[in-house]
Amino acid sequence: MPTRALVAVLARILVCCWALAAGSAGAQEPVPTPFVADVLWAPNPASGSDGRRHLVYELRIGNVTASGLRLNKVEVLDEPSGKLLLSLDGDGLANRFSIGGRRGSESADLGVGQFGVLFLHVALEPGDLPRAIAHRLSLRLVQPGVDFSATVARTPVVDRPLVVLGPPLLGAGYIAGDGCCDSIRHVRALLALNGHFTLSQRFAIDWEQADSENRLVKGDTKTLSNYTIFGREVLAVADGTVVFSRNDLPEQVPGALPQGMTVDEADGNSVVLDIGGGNYVLYAHMQPGSVTVRSGANVKRGDVLGKVGNTGNSQAPHLHLHVMDGPSPLASNGVPYVFDSFKLTAIDKAGTADFDKAEATGAPLTLTPISPPQVLSRVLPLDLTVVEFAR
Ligand SMILES: [Zn+2]
Repeated sequence: MPTRALVAVLARILVCCWALAAGSAGAQEPVPTPFVADVLWAPNPASGSDGRRHLVYELRIGNVTASGLRLNKVEVLDEPSGKLLLSLDGDGLANRFSIGGRRGSESADLGVGQFGVLFLHVALEPGDLPRAIAHRLSLRLVQPGVDFSATVARTPVVDRPLVVLGPPLLGAGYIAGDGCCDSIRHVRALLALNGHFTLSQRFAIDWEQADSENRLVKGDTKTLSNYTIFGREVLAVADGTVVFSRNDLPEQVPGALPQGMTVDEADGNSVVLDIGGGNYVLYAHMQPGSVTVRSGANVKRGDVLGKVGNTGNSQAPHLHLHVMDGPSPLASNGVPYVFDSFKLTAIDKAGTADFDKAEATGAPLTLTPISPPQVLSRVLPLDLTVVEFAR
């Protein structure tokens, strides 16, 4: 039978079965599904500065039919209790579902043969810590006009101790840019490398610093030294061994991302530190000539590694920092981490647009002070929190 005809017959048979099974598919019996779905990496909960645990992970959904599929609802359920942990529909769902895993292609509609990646964030209620989760997908087959739902993509929740770090910088006014868990630039930095997906930047933070007037930059925004954080010393967050360092790339002119940047220069002058337990820390974008450690060097927590700069794929001086499960800054999986202690002093509740504006124009950040400041230990500063680090 010609391939095309075979596919058409299979599609008719499957549509028949979905129609029979439409409504709900149980967990036990084999039921044909018009899609396949899997969690790319089992989530490892991050303990956030808001006192909650956060599951940040990715669900891949592929359309295996000859019809379009429209995703109507995705619910995250505790296993085995079935307790509802998160429900997404409408724009809240479509805005997180990237067709082909590509940022900028968000939609709830999966064409024939397409897959998408749903970027999920579950902020758990205090006291909740599921051992496993599953996903109830509700969708519509556009052609026969059949609604279908099934509970699929079960995954354990990883219960690995969180990596505990010392301060990467010292002083006040550091703001956690593009941080956990609903910002986009790091959390959705899914890459196809060596034939599979990687997401090393899932818990990355771009650290910048506000001055006493809440400015990231004062005066000419093209002048590196006008940025509050420029030249700050970058510290080893733990005892470890340097497995990569680079020190020779030039500063970029702030204000726009450089053109024609190669993958191996994107991190600029950078250090990868092996801190043991299978965990590695990336520090990126430091000043040329400032990186004082070389591959093979053993460092102690608090040692100076370099100075904050604007090298590589960077449009303003900042320190990009993340923890990953391998030495490759791109071809590793990003893991959550916490700082052993810091003072939470403010939050920019006006969001990433406010941060971007402050960086681009020198306008003050719109900060909501935390009064009195809170000393927090063993948590991850969440997106756009402002912290003070001390030794
Ligand atoms: Zn970054």
